[in-house]
Formats: sequence, C-alpha cells, structure tokens
Amino acid sequence: MSFPEPLQQLIGNRLDRELNWKSRCHPLHGYLPQHSSTPLFIKREDELNANAVGTKYRKYLSLIPALEHSGNNRIILIGSAHSNNVVGLAQLLRSRGIDVSALIKAPGNNQLVGNHLLLTMLLPHDRMQYVSHPDWPQVEEIAEQMVARLKQQGISAAVIPEGGYSEAVLPGILTLAADLQRNGEELGVEFQDIWTDSGTGVSAIGLLLGMRLLGITKPCVHITRIAGYPDEFRQRYDQFERWLERLTQKPLPEARPQVRFIQPATAASYGSVNQTILRESWAIARETGLLMDPVYSVKHFYTVKCEMERQAPNGPQLILYNGGTLGMCGFQSRLASREPMV
Ligand SMILES: *Cc1c(COP(=O)(O)O)cnc(C)c1O
Repeated sequence: MSFPEPLQQLIGNRLDRELNWKSRCHPLHGYLPQHSSTPLFIKREDELNANAVGTKYRKYLSLIPALEHSGNNRIILIGSAHSNNVVGLAQLLRSRGIDVSALIKAPGNNQLVGNHLLLTMLLPHDRMQYVSHPDWPQVEEIAEQMVARLKQQGISAAVIPEGGYSEAVLPGILTLAADLQRNGEELGVEFQDIWTDSGTGVSAIGLLLGMRLLGITKPCVHITRIAGYPDEFRQRYDQFERWLERLTQKPLPEARPQVRFIQPATAASYGSVNQTILRESWAIARETGLLMDPVYSVKHFYTVKCEMERQAPNGPQLILYNGGTLGMCGFQSRLASREPMV
C-alpha cells in the first residue's frame, strides 16, 4: 500500500487513510485510431470515487485530513453553480459532519439542473450565498468578510479557493505519478505519451512534479487546456514547486518530462458545449462503453483523437479520463435532443 521513495516519506502520513488513491488502467477499445504499434490505454480516474470527479478527488486525499485537523468549525467553498469541486467537496465534508458554506457565482439560467441541483440538495439556503457576476472578481474578499463575521460569533472558518488551489492539496496530487508508475509496471508497458486535461492546472502540475520527484522523464505529457492560460499554468507550477521544495527541504531533481499544451479542437472557450461535443459524447459512449462529462472529458478525448489523426503517435499511449459520469447530468436534455424518441 505504500508509495515509492522519496514519496512515501513525504506524503505517507498526510493522506486520509480510508480514501483510495489507486485507479485502474486498461486497454481502450474504439474511438481513437487503433494501430498495432501504438497500443492505447485509458486511466480510470473516474472510478476513484462515484461522487466526485477524479482530478478533484486526488486533491481531497490530503485536503480533507488537513481541514479536519485545522480545528475550524466552518469551511467556506468558492465556485460556480456547476463547479465539480464545490459539489464534490461539499459531500465529503458534510458526510463527516463538517459545516459548509458556499459562495456561488450566480448562474446564467435559473433552471435547477446538474451540479447546481445537487449542491442545493446538499446545503440549506442559509449556507448558500450567490455572488453576482460584477462582484465575482472580489469573491475572495467577500469570503474573508464572511470569515470575520463568523469570528465575531465565535465560529472559526477556513476558505477553500476556487478549484481547490491551495498548498494542502499538494500531497494528494502527487499520488497520480506513483499510481501511473504502478499501472505501467503491472501491465508491463512503458508509456511513450500521456494525454491529460487541465482547468486550474493543479492536477497536471501534481503529475509533472510527482514525475520529477520519482525521476520519471520519459513519457511526453500532452495537456488539453480546457480552461486557463499557459502563463497562469507556469505561475502555478512555480508556486507548487516552491511548496514542494519546502516539503522535501531540498531542490527538486532538474530532469523533467517534456510537456506540450494543446488547444481544444472545438468549443475552445471554457464551459462551452456545441453540437460537435454533443455528437462526440454519443460516439464515445457507443464506441468505447464510456459515459463522459462533456465539459472536460469529451472535449479532451475529441482533441486527442484529432491530434492522433493529424500525427500518428508511436508506442504505448495513455489517456487519462479525469472526469466522471456525474458531470453529464447538467446536459441530459441537450444530449437527449440528438436522438428522437422511438
Ligand atoms: C477540475 C477538472 C479538471 C481539471 O483539473 P485542474 O486541477 O483544475 O486542472 C479536469 N476534468 C474535470 C472533469 C474536472 O472537474
């Protein structure tokens, strides 16, 4: 159950003991171009937890114990009404009896669907505060005011920034590199390329730093940039690198994997879902047996398909399915509109 050194020593006692950090990896049948020289594998991060998407869940492996030990009486979450992070973390915290408030970006439409519905089921009205679009850039200050107000009432609160961007997630996100290494060894495969996607970039940064720490430099890492900009990614990478050096108390190994960013092949702006994405959601389900969330995973897989058609890769390929089926639930009617009822 332990991690390869130096990871075990660094993170072994910083993760929740009961939460699983292993996901399986299996051959991918259908959808992507199949060649005998490039066996395709998919890593099932979606299977880590049925109630939270995979990338988010790895962050919680260390965030949850850190919050439990922090002694706070209230955790304040920040995100959009459809945030996978807010709905995932709200479940894990509430089910441990931890009091949660959410600062939610007021949604564009007032239909209660998808994650917004699930979150509303989890939290009572007085624990949900909507922040208008014009005020959203100040949401962190609004959160701090809330902390100050609660403090006056004798309640100590902590804020989790959007997407879970904080030092406490670092041990959790480092587990991915170790798990990939385990998958490769168990399958007897040396991956040439890894294909992942990014929003805040935190999960991909965890993968890259974990690989550096373990001395894994060979597979090239291709990142489908679903949200954010390369500059932001670099800044965050530098920040996590400093946090990691604080944890290891020495400089990281210099050798690192090659990284390449890819633009989504369609519906490039974050959150947008067009007819191509809806069509590909059906195609992926029919051809691979996988039900995928449109906002991240379908866009990512479609982009990988276009890239592989443009230039055939060489050697074993690993594609990460970081999302989960729950992310489909806000899109039921749009997905259904592609198929007339019989
Ligand atoms: C948040 C999210 C990502 C990206 O994770 P980051 O750590 O923010 O880059 C990818 N896929 C899904 C389904 C997500 O919810």
